[in-house]
Amino acid sequence: MTRAPVLFVSHGAPTEALEVDGWTEALARFGREQPQPAAIVSISAHWVTRRTSGVTASEAPETIHDFYGFPDPLYRIQYPSPGAPALAAQIVERLERAGFPAAADPIRGLDHGTWSPLLHAWPLAEIPVVQVSLPALLPADLLRYGAALAPLRDEGILILGSGGAVHNLGEVAFDDKERGARQWAAEFDGWVRARVAELDVAALARWRAEAPHADRAHPTTEHWDPLLVAMGARLRGDAPAVIHEGFSYATLSMRSFALRS
Ligand code: ZN
Repeated sequence: MTRAPVLFVSHGAPTEALEVDGWTEALARFGREQPQPAAIVSISAHWVTRRTSGVTASEAPETIHDFYGFPDPLYRIQYPSPGAPALAAQIVERLERAGFPAAADPIRGLDHGTWSPLLHAWPLAEIPVVQVSLPALLPADLLRYGAALAPLRDEGILILGSGGAVHNLGEVAFDDKERGARQWAAEFDGWVRARVAELDVAALARWRAEAPHADRAHPTTEHWDPLLVAMGARLRGDAPAVIHEGFSYATLSMRSFALRS
């Protein structure tokens, strides 16, 4: 079995699901060039849990349209990937063994943090997908959460962290996707780029204190935290590979990368 990579994706605005740009093309290329994963385990900014982690356990997870006020076509998108209840049960066990309370969720479907990047990378939606909730935890525990999932990679299961390397909605240039990054946003994104390139996980965990403009880059942490889960899922021998870099709407970094052996 080929070891599957970890993928971190900055998913940007929900409308990315309908667009064609450098980011969507980079994901499509990644999906084509990658040996097909046996399954995908996704941790997205859009499903945060406080105590018990949830793991989707439906045979056919529904496509959740978890956003408001967007164009109609976005609400018609379906990503009908199969679920994987047996894998979900195995993940619950792994998380519990690592000290994270977890439970299978037979109702919950996939949010746009999961399906928007996946429909560009694997448009046929044939690969089973299990979404695991993002726990509201401190960096060291988010790394351990990722580490609890890492052994799945040796079963050919790809781990996807979906969030945003910079995510500030308050200062977004909502009418100008191509505007380019604001200076502070570019500085934070550059810091992330360097730390990921060096696999400096300790520095990434201290991001709030060490990165320039950290509070402005992430007024809330839910889009940052999946990056720490992804870094936690690294394995010995992994090297980072940039999949895409750039900005949308001035304050949404689209930085996406893989760790692979
Ligand atoms: Zn988001």
